[in-house]
Amino acid sequence: MADFHERLRGLLLEENARIDGIYHCPHHPEGEVERYRRACDCRRPGSGLFDRARDEMGIDLGRSFLLADSEAALRSAVAAGVQPILVRAGTIDEAVNLALSRNTPSEATTR
Ligand SMILES: [Zn+2]
Repeated sequence: MADFHERLRGLLLEENARIDGIYHCPHHPEGEVERYRRACDCRRPGSGLFDRARDEMGIDLGRSFLLADSEAALRSAVAAGVQPILVRAGTIDEAVNLALSRNTPSEATTR
């Protein structure tokens, strides 16, 4: 997973974009790996990953949005107090522009 994250960061840097944090849930209540086999609040639709990012990076979740293509991800956003935006089609640029049009640039979390 770490190799994938570093590769992703490298590719984005080539496009002058950066990622401040990557969060994922390794848990599953019926997982095969015992140390990760448990219920948790970071698995969708829980808000644990958003809560961690908020605590570690000082993010104002009430002024943030999530672009996602799955209902479970959107439910996580709602649980965390983040504005959910469903992306069904189009480009990421169109989705970001829609999100920003709902907030003034100074109010949108663009970290
Ligand atoms: Zn988890």
